[in-house]
Amino acid sequence: MYYVPDDTERCGYYECKECGSRFLDIKIAPSLVCPYCGEEPDMEIGPDDEMPVIKEDAKLIKMLSDKEEVEKYDKLLSLAVTGGDFDWI
Ligand SMILES: [Zn+2]
Repeated sequence: MYYVPDDTERCGYYECKECGSRFLDIKIAPSLVCPYCGEEPDMEIGPDDEMPVIKEDAKLIKMLSDKEEVEKYDKLLSLAVTGGDFDWI
């Protein structure tokens, strides 16, 4: 398994509105901070500036609640990441 631990039976399938990344995460929430583009700390920020807003751009598309489905999505997504060009949604 690429995104979630082996034998995960329940996870969320997310797509980032900002960079288009798709991924699985065992955390399930309506939206998450994107692991690809969402955690860039702003080094320019000074002590008097406002805290950077945490942008939860990755939206839950689908909840996977079955081990076989989790495995299938994990495999397809990891293939897409490692070079396969899937248009399977
Ligand atoms: Zn992103």
